[in-house]
Amino acid sequence: MIKPSTPDNESERLAALQRYAILDTPPETAFDDLVAIAGAICATPMSTVSLIDTDRQWFKGRRGIEAEQTPRDHAFCAHAILEPEKVMVVPDARDDARFSDNPLVTGNPNIRFYAGAPLVTPDGYALGTLCVLDDEPRELAPYQVRALEALSRQVSHLLELRRVSRELNHQLTERNWYEQQLKRYQQELEAQNADLTEQTRTDALTGLANRRAFNVALEQALQAGREVAVAVVDVDHFKVVNDVHGHATGDEVLRDVAGVLRATGAASGLVARYGGEEFVWLIYDRALADAALQCEYLRQAVAHATQTLAVTVSVGVAVAQDGDSAERLFARADQALYAAKRGGRNRVVASED
Ligand code: GH3
Ligand code: MG
Ligand code: MG
Repeated sequence: MIKPSTPDNESERLAALQRYAILDTPPETAFDDLVAIAGAICATPMSTVSLIDTDRQWFKGRRGIEAEQTPRDHAFCAHAILEPEKVMVVPDARDDARFSDNPLVTGNPNIRFYAGAPLVTPDGYALGTLCVLDDEPRELAPYQVRALEALSRQVSHLLELRRVSRELNHQLTERNWYEQQLKRYQQELEAQNADLTEQTRTDALTGLANRRAFNVALEQALQAGREVAVAVVDVDHFKVVNDVHGHATGDEVLRDVAGVLRATGAASGLVARYGGEEFVWLIYDRALADAALQCEYLRQAVAHATQTLAVTVSVGVAVAQDGDSAERLFARADQALYAAKRGGRNRVVASED
C-alpha cells in the first residue's frame, strides 16, 4: 500500500475546510441526494461525499458504506485530491500498487473499483471528492465521468452556499446583538437623563422640590392668571439647633420639618425647600384669609409634630395681585415673614398689600 502524500498547500487547504464548518455535522438531504444521483448514473452500489481532514476522511453523505469515517492513510480520496482538476479512476484496486493491500480492499467493503471527482473551492482547494465505488472491477463510460465531474461541481456549490448562508446568519445574529446592546445603552442613558432632570428639581436633603422647581411653578401660575398665595416658612432659631446639637441633628430636624410640610401642604399646592432652613409653600386657589388659615394649621403641625427636637416656624404669606411679578409677590411674603420674626416668632403674618 502506498500512503497518500500530503498536498503542498495542506495547511491552507485544512484552513479552507475549517471555514466550511461541515465536519461532524448531521446528514443533509441535499448532499445525500447528490450522492444517490452519482451512484445511479455510474451504476455503482456505493457512493460518498468524502472530506479529507488532517488524519481521516469523513463522509458528509454516503450510500452503501457503513463507516462514518476512515483513516486518511486508507482513503482513495486522499490520493484523488492530489490532482484537483482530474477525476481519479481506479478500474481494479487489486492491480494498483497504491491500493492492492489496502484494508478497505482486502476487507470490508472490499473496494475494487473507484472513481472520485475532487470537490474544489472557488479559491482552488480540494477539500475531498464526490466518489463512486464498487466491489467489482469496472470502467466508466466518458459520459459517466463527465456526469461525476458535473455533480462534484454541484456538491462544491452546495458547500459554498451552506458556508455563505451560515456567515449571513452569523452576521444577522451579531447585528441583532449589537442592536440590542445599543437599545439597552440608550435606555440607560435615558434613565440617567431622567435622574439628572429629577435631581435638578429636587432638594437632596429633604426630597422636596427645590428653589428652581418652585420658581418655575410660581411663574406658570402667575402667567396662567391663577389665584395663588406664597408662604415663606422659616425655622425659628435654627442656628441654636446646630450650635447645641450639631449639624447632623440639624439636618435631621430639617428633614422632620420637611415631612410635616409635605404632609400638611402638598395636597393644596407645592412645598419646596427654598434654601437653608427656609421653605416655601405655593398655595393654589385660596384667598388671603384662607391661605393664612392654612399656614396657621401648618405652623401648629410643625410645633406639635416634629420628632427629633421641638422646633417652631414663622410664616409670612401673601397672595398674588393682578399683574404681580414673582419677585414682588415673594418680596411681600418675605416682608410678612420678617414681621412674624419681629413679632416674636412661631406665628403667621399675612401681607396686607
Ligand atoms: P431666625 O429665627 O431668625 O430664623 O434664626 P435662625 O437661627 O433660624 O436664622 P439664621 O439665618 O441666623 O441661621 C440659620 C442657620 O441655618 C444657619 C445655618 O448654619 C443653618 N443651616 C442652613 N442650611 C443648613 C443645612 O442644610 N443643615 C443644617 N444643619 N443647618 C443649616
Ligand atoms: Mg431661621
Ligand atoms: Mg432663615
